[in-house]
Amino acid sequence: MTLENVDDIYPLSPMQEGMLFHAISQPASGVFINQIVSSLSGDLDVGKMRAAWNRVAEAYSGLRTAFLWDELDEPLQVVRSEVETPWSTEDWRALKEHQQLQKLSAFLEHDRGIDFDLASAPLSRMTLIRLGETTWKWVWSCHHIQADGWSTQIVLQHFWSAYHGLEPKGQGPAFRDYIEWLGNQDQGSAQDFWRNRLSGFCEPNRLNTIAVDDKNDDSDSGHAQQHLQLPKAASSTLRELARQQRVTLNTVFQAAWALLVSRYSGSDDVVFGTTVSARPADLPDVDTSVGLFINTLPLRVSVEADTPVAEWMSRIQSSQLQSRQFEYASLAAIQKNCDTPAGTALFETIVVFENYPDVGTSHDQSTVAVDDVAFHEQSNYPVALLVVPGDEIELILVHDRARLGKTAAVRLLRHLENILLQFAEVPATPLGQIRLITSCESDQILREWNHSVAAPPERCLHELIEEKTRDNPSKLAVISSEGNLSYRELNTRAELLAYRLQHAGVSSQDRVGILISRSPEMLVAILGVLKAGAAYVPLDPLWPAEHLQYVISDSSIEVVVTRDDMLDRLSLPQIKTLSLSEAGTVDRNGEQLPQVAPSDPAYVIYTSGSTGQPKGVEISHANIVASTLSRSEFYPEAPERFLLLSSFAFDSSMVGIFWPLSTGETLVLAEPDAERDTYRLLKLIQQHKVTHTLCLPSLYELILTDAMPSQLTSLRCVIVAGESCSPAVAAKHAGTNQTATLYNEYGPTEATVWCLGHRVEPVHDRQVVPIGQPTACSRAYVLDHCGQLAPVGVVGELFVGGRGVARGYVGRPGLTAERFLPDPFTDGQSMYRTGDLVCIRPDGSLLFVGRADRQIKIRGHRVEPGEIEELLQSRPDIAEAVVVARARNVDPESDTDSMRQRLEQVSPETAERLLTQVESMTEVELGEFLQESSS
Ligand code: AMP
Ligand code: MG
Repeated sequence: MTLENVDDIYPLSPMQEGMLFHAISQPASGVFINQIVSSLSGDLDVGKMRAAWNRVAEAYSGLRTAFLWDELDEPLQVVRSEVETPWSTEDWRALKEHQQLQKLSAFLEHDRGIDFDLASAPLSRMTLIRLGETTWKWVWSCHHIQADGWSTQIVLQHFWSAYHGLEPKGQGPAFRDYIEWLGNQDQGSAQDFWRNRLSGFCEPNRLNTIAVDDKNDDSDSGHAQQHLQLPKAASSTLRELARQQRVTLNTVFQAAWALLVSRYSGSDDVVFGTTVSARPADLPDVDTSVGLFINTLPLRVSVEADTPVAEWMSRIQSSQLQSRQFEYASLAAIQKNCDTPAGTALFETIVVFENYPDVGTSHDQSTVAVDDVAFHEQSNYPVALLVVPGDEIELILVHDRARLGKTAAVRLLRHLENILLQFAEVPATPLGQIRLITSCESDQILREWNHSVAAPPERCLHELIEEKTRDNPSKLAVISSEGNLSYRELNTRAELLAYRLQHAGVSSQDRVGILISRSPEMLVAILGVLKAGAAYVPLDPLWPAEHLQYVISDSSIEVVVTRDDMLDRLSLPQIKTLSLSEAGTVDRNGEQLPQVAPSDPAYVIYTSGSTGQPKGVEISHANIVASTLSRSEFYPEAPERFLLLSSFAFDSSMVGIFWPLSTGETLVLAEPDAERDTYRLLKLIQQHKVTHTLCLPSLYELILTDAMPSQLTSLRCVIVAGESCSPAVAAKHAGTNQTATLYNEYGPTEATVWCLGHRVEPVHDRQVVPIGQPTACSRAYVLDHCGQLAPVGVVGELFVGGRGVARGYVGRPGLTAERFLPDPFTDGQSMYRTGDLVCIRPDGSLLFVGRADRQIKIRGHRVEPGEIEELLQSRPDIAEAVVVARARNVDPESDTDSMRQRLEQVSPETAERLLTQVESMTEVELGEFLQESSS
């Protein structure tokens, strides 16, 4: 550096250092290039303008400053004695007005991409564009590092005074005085203050949005801006609100933003950035100084649902007042000292309240009128809200398109406006009652996307099958390798069983176990139990003995229907068994089977539990009838030949059993152990001309991999369910199986088999396969952590209402009360809290995003790792345990040995069993393991 042409050298403010750092690390991003565009009219003298500017540059050191950092320990700013500001002129007079507008916006965008070399002053350039004989646009482009928005106003004021030959207003202290002042401040106590303020804030808030909008919106990268002008009336109501509550207008907007971030991020502990003017009160006249005084600092707000808006706003205001004296602190240092993980930003959103002095650029002697001054300010934050006060308050959202698309940004602004209007309307409203979404949005969600759920016919499940038997008794109901059954045979044998059950003492609403592998008898048993007025409890013969016993005792089963070959599985003296292998007859004595009501239970299915033990979900006839009948509203055709693959201990088996049987179609049974043998499955499909089936997406992928094209031609409908369907499966389906349509069904056992369905469109579902829209008997609500409807594109928890929602868990009133809640949107009905995180797309269909808890699915089994960890940790010899789900293609040998050693200390047999099936630790094994460990 030469020492010529140097007026002064001094260090940077922390904010300047931050900008310098970003500018060096993201060159040509344009984030710190500000444009001040003035519309001028009159008799403009370009020479006089340049001269006036030179006068201004002489007056303010910031306009002559360059920044040096190469080979320096600390960067420095160097004030040049003289600078030459580049001016260029353009003449667009020949263009039509709309062409001029287009060209201007292109020019501005291009200009923002032309970076300044921070090492050479000045960091300003001027363009004068002549639009007409007396009309001009003047574009002053400058780097933000030299001046804040407030300062540019002072510069403009001074500039027009100089142009008109007037005495400029007085100047405040030079920027170097501020830097000196900074040097004298106690950084230690400032950092103590901020560390204290942020103590315990460990996880930065993240707007939980998912890109669900049309990709075309966001083909460009970089930052974009969306504007929302609050009408005059609304603007004055907000000013009035601030006045009445004795808070600043700025506080009103900060409060609204805090609430919005809380709802979008699902957290009540909110931190975002606020840009403060930071001009120190103890520097006299600093309001008329020019330089970069602003600072961006964290604002931490606790959002308590019960606190009234007004009281909360005052709290935010006083917290802001407290921090005033430490506004000079360096954000970089604050970030370093706080509890958030190193390397992550403390906040991703900021609020800037642009409270600038009035420019007063017109004078009595004016020969040039400044009609309008527009500021184009950029931001390096993912999302920045700029508030421009005025008669009509303007909200500008500057957003990184990669983080938040245009449509999502527009929606977000509307939510902010909605919050503000509710604040103003009733300031006493508790925060928890403020709605994020507008009534238009909630109408769309609650009416358009959730049809009112029609009451199903007053029927029981077995009655639907009896009706089909009367219609066509000789039609095949069941095909299997063990023989077939016509509807008449199925019905007659089931009726016989029902009488036998009655004789064995089974009465209405009892629970009867069925311990039979997949076979025609299994269906006879199911139908027989239903006819006897009881609920069936599937007992999978593949279950380990302990689990079998657990389910039998938990569901208070006294009678089990089975076959001779299964009898040795049951060594429980208190259990009565009825074997279907015996050609039992009964003397009816004129007895009738009981009347069954739709509200009576039809079956109980066991699934994983957050209590450490599997829990039974009790489903009524009304639930399963509604769930089954709603299939005809969604699927274009009845399931002519349905291949049942699921174990009947999973509720997905209801699709294969009751859909065909309630529509008079035929059910094809795969042999009990055929699930994983794709060769046998494909043969079955081909041999029996199977038209429909349902399985886990992972199994369907295996089937597609192993299939020869000719083996799939009979299939018309394939349903995948139970876990996420990847776009890869959809693509593979499209490439391999062109005759069938693929459907993705979603549903927890507690809401009866399915509640959402999506017809997969491989062309559209390339990024992600949605789980679809509510079925005819279901309602789906995506709720935020306050229990309010979440908007399109924002992640929330899925709650399911409608006719499929079960009454609850067997013998667990506490857990039932926790998960089954009153449906706030439908009188007198209940909804089930799924624990699944989802979001709505603009077409009303849902995307599965993940779990709110740590539940995972392994081969369709719900598994809760926390339970296993807790049990491992309860052993004195295990200090800490972490359970992870591992993909099957990971080498199981590598770390199994050390796991084995640790597990063997728990219980050698359990360890052995868990490890031999390490890639499929199912709920059953878990249940057993838990039981053994706790005994
Ligand atoms: P289950 O009660 O065994 O049917 O399991 C229900 C759970 O499986 C749901 O809460 C989801 O977590 C998951 N699930 C079911 N179907 C799907 C699907 N189509 N996509 C993603 N997850 C699913
Ligand atoms: Mg299911």
